[in-house]
Amino acid sequence: MFEDLTGKFSDAFKVLRGNGRITKSHIQDCLLEVRTALLEADVHFDVVKEFLLKVKEKALGVKVLKGVDPQQQFIKICQDQLTVLMGSKHEGLELQRKDLLPILLVGLNGQGKTTFAGKLALYLKNKKKKNILLVPADTIRPAAKDQLKILASQVGVECFDSDLSKTPQEIVETSVAYAKTTQKNIILIDTAGRLQVDAKLMEEIKEVQVNLRKYRPEVLLVTDAMTGQESVNIARSFHEALGLTGIILSKMDSDARGGAALSIRYTTGLPIKYLSVGEKMDDLELFHPDRLAGRILDMGDIVSLVEKAEDRIDKQDSESMMQSIKRGEFSIDDLMKQMEMMSRLGSLKSLVKMLPGMQKMGDLGSSEKNIVKMKVIICSMTKKEKKDYRLVDKSRISRISKGSGTTENDVKNFLSQFKKLKQTLPSMMNMFKGKSTPNFNSPLIHKEKKRKKNKGPYGGGHFFN
Ligand code: GDP
Repeated sequence: MFEDLTGKFSDAFKVLRGNGRITKSHIQDCLLEVRTALLEADVHFDVVKEFLLKVKEKALGVKVLKGVDPQQQFIKICQDQLTVLMGSKHEGLELQRKDLLPILLVGLNGQGKTTFAGKLALYLKNKKKKNILLVPADTIRPAAKDQLKILASQVGVECFDSDLSKTPQEIVETSVAYAKTTQKNIILIDTAGRLQVDAKLMEEIKEVQVNLRKYRPEVLLVTDAMTGQESVNIARSFHEALGLTGIILSKMDSDARGGAALSIRYTTGLPIKYLSVGEKMDDLELFHPDRLAGRILDMGDIVSLVEKAEDRIDKQDSESMMQSIKRGEFSIDDLMKQMEMMSRLGSLKSLVKMLPGMQKMGDLGSSEKNIVKMKVIICSMTKKEKKDYRLVDKSRISRISKGSGTTENDVKNFLSQFKKLKQTLPSMMNMFKGKSTPNFNSPLIHKEKKRKKNKGPYGGGHFFN
């Protein structure tokens, strides 16, 4: 997410590094670079102007605090201003209703509307305990109904059997009556898209919207974050025609440059409510302006990372693993479980990006490859071997390597690294207990680093390096 912009912000801040005092000219030099970075990220010109003005005003007015690095103080000003530009705080859906809540999802074709319908249904069902009805109302692209039906069954909610020979307005009318008889709280309506904004499309949605007026429907535009300022224009057109209540930015996991996320709120006044961050049904994030500002400035987003972990990692599983580490019984089976838990959180690359200062970390592809290699080696081991790796002798190494399609050296390296990990885990656990951040200057870490240099009984390796 926004790697390019993050890199350029970080380059711009270098101008300030090592200066005990930030002068007007330092700020001007830095802001010149920030300006280029924002414009290259396709941020709207007015937004860039406003941002630079506010940051300059604040930076020149601020007193440098004793003991605080001026560069850090400046970054904080930038973070606050980016947060304000994106809306200051998270604005969710208004869910406290006695009556039915219709949510109309609108947008152009291919922007991720139908996918988001499935994600939102899952979120509202699990997190908000709502009874949802998904309603296909795209009468132009009949395949959209099948797509929505599949997503509905994946996320375990009901999909209305719309009669696509009727008008969207008629479909929605019958779905509302059905939702009422089946005690649904929310109907999520997937409307038709077009290749570009056109008057007929707006009329069609408007008719549906007017009919639902007494329910005060949410009208959410789903727009692709990769299209930058184009999505700002699309949002404006939809807002003018329909009066939107919020924006969803989709495909935030791809090469989005930041233009849409940073410009939409300021130019349309509309809140971004959710971010769609992948093709899987749980790839949905609530939009928190402060957290995104933190990610853009490479300050990480630990809060979202912890929330993700809480959502996707079974507490019991992780507690039983802690217990086996404490008892010194951590086995290869446990390691496999650990790796599966991690993969539930997302790719290594996406996780690392949520840690402060890690955006520019080099290629993680080789680490991902090593994880895959470890998994195939483990899959070729017997139950007994996984429980006690010491059983693996020369002939077993040869069998495992043949079975997994890896070399004998790969298997030896894996075993050697597992042995080291098993020895280190209890002390690591003690070290991190009660601390929010690990102390990388700890003598224990240095001891472990030294140990890594020495080759283990199975030869040196780099699976966990
Ligand atoms: P619609 O025409 O607006 O309903 O768009 P779809 O929901 O059918 O999505 C179009 C394509 O984008 C599909 O291939 C989706 O899998 C993909 N897609 C949707 N949302 C995301 C997302 O957040 N990230 C990524 N990478 N792909 C997405």
